[in-house]
Amino acid sequence: MRFLINNVLIIPMTDDGPRWFAGSVLVEDGVIAEVFRGDAPQVDKVVDGTGKLLMPGLINTHTHVAMTLMRNMADDVPLMEWLHERVWPFESKLTPQDIYVGARLGIAEMLMGGTTTMVDMYWHEAAVARAVEETGIRAVLCPCFIDDRMGEFETDLAETLSFKNELIQVRVAPHAAYSCSAENLRRGVQLAEKHNVGLHVHVSETRDEQEIVRNRFGKTPVGYLNSLGVFDLPTIAAHCVHVNGEDMEILKAKNVSVAHNPQSNMKLASGAAPVAQMLERGLNVSLGTDGAASNNDLDMWDEMRTAALLGKLTAGDPAALPAWEVLRMATVDGAKAIGAGGKLGRIKAGYAADLILVDTTGPHWQPLHDPVSAAVYSAKSSDVCAVWVAGRQRFIR
Ligand SMILES: [Zn+2]
Repeated sequence: MRFLINNVLIIPMTDDGPRWFAGSVLVEDGVIAEVFRGDAPQVDKVVDGTGKLLMPGLINTHTHVAMTLMRNMADDVPLMEWLHERVWPFESKLTPQDIYVGARLGIAEMLMGGTTTMVDMYWHEAAVARAVEETGIRAVLCPCFIDDRMGEFETDLAETLSFKNELIQVRVAPHAAYSCSAENLRRGVQLAEKHNVGLHVHVSETRDEQEIVRNRFGKTPVGYLNSLGVFDLPTIAAHCVHVNGEDMEILKAKNVSVAHNPQSNMKLASGAAPVAQMLERGLNVSLGTDGAASNNDLDMWDEMRTAALLGKLTAGDPAALPAWEVLRMATVDGAKAIGAGGKLGRIKAGYAADLILVDTTGPHWQPLHDPVSAAVYSAKSSDVCAVWVAGRQRFIR
């Protein structure tokens, strides 16, 4: 399969060269074959990009996609009540088929909004794997465990691993330091090691969590998880809202990627992660929506804008988290978080053709002074008009 996206405004997310330019992109066999700034070659299949912006597909590094089923069902309550009284009782009744249906809904929402990769953490992840395979989104599937679900989890992990392919990675997901015993956390690390996969875990989401872990183990959640070897494997740490300087040093030293979920953190009043400080220290920070029960959508454009605004407010500095940095978090740094830096998240020859075309003709895009700023501060997910994952078209408006 060979096609050219022609006459389009490109934000390539590369480190060198201009941040945007007019050009064309040739896609061949799922990969970006070449990027042209001037004349492009004649090919049989051409997609006209006039009036549109071409960007790398967005990478959502923390979600629970099947929680679309709980959208608008448990709002305006604190995290522990949300979890123990609303979410977990509902989830205990979910069948794999329910989870499959929720995942299909969530994946449709993501693909239609320009998200081409998701990192998903849930129970019965094999049911999500089925939805992923059918829809063609790229995914990192992370079967999740808490203490009373270990048996079920090991079966789920084995089933999910059978779906591994070019588009599907698998990771082990201990739910959190407060919901898994030390023994089970070690078991999770062992299993990840055995299957040569990474980990994905909630870390320091709330002050409550911080206190619970400190009282039980005399350490911060970061220090505690580190002492159990959780960060010895490639790890995505979701949230990291309440982290101190020492925690950030550990995360940096262990190459842990932080998945920042600003809307979920705001909605549950968990707090604001010190993202500007993390970036200053050289941590890799990517973006996630979290589940639709705490957001209440899976919209990465919303998430980018919120990350920028909250980052500025938290740092007390309007120059903190500029648009370019936030766009990197949603593309390049997301790719790095899943171990796909160098092959995903940029428009560059040799990179995977995960591409999105965005309509820039709407009034909220005019005048188009700075396409990078417009993408972060003005764009809407409904502007996305075509989506390819590994060169295969998965959505067109
Ligand atoms: Zn989460």
